[in-house]
Amino acid sequence: MKQKDFPQFIEGTCKDISFEGKGVVDTKYGPLFVDGLFTGEQGEFEILYKRNGVFFGKTKRLDKVSEDRIQPRCKICTSCGGCCFQQLSYPAQLKFKQKLVKEQFRKIAKMDVEVKPTLGMEDPYFYRNKIQVPFGRDNKKRITYGFYKQNTHQIIPFDTCFIEDERAKYILDTIKNLMVSFRIAPYEEDLRSGILRHVLIRTSHYKDEIMVVLVTNVDSFPSRNNFVKELVKECPEITTVTQNINKRDTNVILGNFDRVLYGPGFIKDSLCGLWFKISPKSFYQTNPIMTEVLYNEAINSANLTGNEIVLDAYSGIGTIGMIASKKAKEVISVEIVKEAVKDARNNALNNKINNIKIYEDDASDFMVELASKGEKIDVLLMDPPRKGSDERFLNAVLSLKPKKIVYISCGPSSLARDVAYIANDYAIESIQPVDLFPMTAHVETIVLLHRKK
Ligand code: SAH
Repeated sequence: MKQKDFPQFIEGTCKDISFEGKGVVDTKYGPLFVDGLFTGEQGEFEILYKRNGVFFGKTKRLDKVSEDRIQPRCKICTSCGGCCFQQLSYPAQLKFKQKLVKEQFRKIAKMDVEVKPTLGMEDPYFYRNKIQVPFGRDNKKRITYGFYKQNTHQIIPFDTCFIEDERAKYILDTIKNLMVSFRIAPYEEDLRSGILRHVLIRTSHYKDEIMVVLVTNVDSFPSRNNFVKELVKECPEITTVTQNINKRDTNVILGNFDRVLYGPGFIKDSLCGLWFKISPKSFYQTNPIMTEVLYNEAINSANLTGNEIVLDAYSGIGTIGMIASKKAKEVISVEIVKEAVKDARNNALNNKINNIKIYEDDASDFMVELASKGEKIDVLLMDPPRKGSDERFLNAVLSLKPKKIVYISCGPSSLARDVAYIANDYAIESIQPVDLFPMTAHVETIVLLHRKK
């Protein structure tokens, strides 16, 4: 066996928390990343493995404990990969996110920027409106569901998940019990056999509506109708059940085909006074309370007067654009996912919004076309996925010359990269992190930019 070029145990001090939320210990062999370790803590660590010159380990003994360390509520937080900050006090989480955004601008954009304190939740638990769990079998072959253990596909069951809507647990338990009585097998990845792969639950914050999506490996399954009938009888708070078919050997949860098994096939929820229809595949922010804070901050920062032409790029089901439409002359929105665009068009009709045009297109293609036609855009609201925007989109922005840009981002590093790309023409007015994802290292950020010349 090859001799390892590092020891099994090493002592050290945590100098910082990485952007993934891991404690970083400098060792003479290279940086060591440790889950659930916080700045200033000292102790002995076990080195588990080395990947790309970086070590990953776990705490063996803590000699000095951070003042920000708290007792976690969740029993499985050290093995489930969902929450890296259950053991970090909430004020410290908010400070970490503010610093993280500043650091990404320093490292990636080479800019020293001022970042406002992160806006956080009053009660940072049970906030998620979207719950998705894999089903499988435990080592005694019993049906189980839970979260994947970090970096594995081993399912860890849970009693209470402290960041998800509390109503989901009873529904999941009911599905598990009904699977036994209806003999519906869970999907087993190694064997590539079985029926039920995942269950996705979406809850409405303002209406008593819950959607259950059964992700299956097959088109049809035995007693499907009776199974659904029993499920909604046992859990009357469920207002719609859909089936999504995913037969592929993949980590992607949802397949291409959806079928409504009960109810209308969507739920409705409200944001900033408007109602939105949400289908299984449409993107919808997962923290309803903080989404309102995020949208209000973003739209207020644009200081709309009612005369502007606003472009809402990466618009999902049209939420931000429709909320902004009340204060704008006209809104143009663009989104690539067909189902989301369909929802957006319905949402505009239902909310009686007449000054919005909704396009289904790739945002970069759309922007390039707008730029080539020399269209006029006063304010650009953009909210791309984590990987950020691209040079085609940003070059089109430079030629369209909107006076203001409100960039909403869930990926601080791609945000810093994109802002740096347009920094010759656009100055940063403010950077506001908003905590949509308590207990995790993720952060949403609003950057307000204005055109220099
Ligand atoms: N603004 C919305 C959605 C933000 S998430 C909200 O707050 O709910 C990012 C959205 O960008 C998703 O809806 C995703 O489907 C969409 N998207 C991803 N790539 C895209 C692309 N190349 N062109 C247009 N939209 C895209």
